[in-house]
Amino acid sequence: MHNFLPIAYFENQFIAFENAKISIATHALHYGTAAFGGMRGIPNPENPSQILLFRLERHCQRLSQSAKFLNYDLPADKIEQIIVDFVKKNKPSQSFYIRPLVYSSGLGIAPRLHNIEKDFFVYGLEMGDYLSPDGISCRISSWYRQEDRSFPLRGKISAAYITSALAKTEAVESGFDEAILMNSQGKVCEATGMNVFMVRNGQLITPGFEQDVLEGITRDSILTLAKDLGIETIQRPIDKSELFIADEVFLSGTAAKITPVKRIETFTLPSDRPITEKLREKLSAITENKDLKYANWVNVIPLE
Ligand code: PMP
Repeated sequence: MHNFLPIAYFENQFIAFENAKISIATHALHYGTAAFGGMRGIPNPENPSQILLFRLERHCQRLSQSAKFLNYDLPADKIEQIIVDFVKKNKPSQSFYIRPLVYSSGLGIAPRLHNIEKDFFVYGLEMGDYLSPDGISCRISSWYRQEDRSFPLRGKISAAYITSALAKTEAVESGFDEAILMNSQGKVCEATGMNVFMVRNGQLITPGFEQDVLEGITRDSILTLAKDLGIETIQRPIDKSELFIADEVFLSGTAAKITPVKRIETFTLPSDRPITEKLREKLSAITENKDLKYANWVNVIPLE
């Protein structure tokens, strides 16, 4: 189903993807003691002998921060160098997604973070659209996002994704494309792997970090772009009922990019989405390195 890139980084070396295997006793498999990243790259449309990676530095920083929750010191610049080498070795010819993962690689039982080996691997796959760019339907999930007092929500910790997985399957099996989860306070939080934005009266609104959202890198990019485009941005709690009557709602994420929401539960949203489209166009131009103002968000990797 997936086209994996041929080379993986595994146990400190580059090897064939199909040979990168772990033991059934791996700690992370049992306790979710892992954290991951996800970033996108494309061949430069102007020059296919170059690969463009979007916000590599920030992605590596976030993964390094996530690793701290696993008691694992993995500097961001080390991850960055390995990812650049990974891209050079794979020479992708289509748009692709990179999945780096840090994990408790030691074998054994008892949940803990001390006295257990850690490791880091990277693999990739070709990836086009993750969700329909024409718009999707969302269910309000019966599952709630975790709270920071019981889960380190500033990290992208693997164990957290049981909630996303339950919410996604619940949504899809009841006829929706995606799920929007509330936080423990009953306010809008995020989707299963995306942040949530809405537009009301020309203002772009998204929940703030105190609402337990992931520190999404697309979210951060959109907030910056919106300000530059003169769109007023507000980070504040959002009620579920506000989403139903919003002028526009979209989800943001590395995989999903900017995905418009057409319907939430039984509420149909307007099909005219001027702010969503403006932001989408801008983000897409930046990832293709056509907007030099944001050239520092794009790493250009020559393939020789
Ligand atoms: N929330 C969750 C739970 C996610 O998994 C993701 C995907 N990483 C996001 C939000 C969006 O983050 P980003 O824009 O950095 O991909």
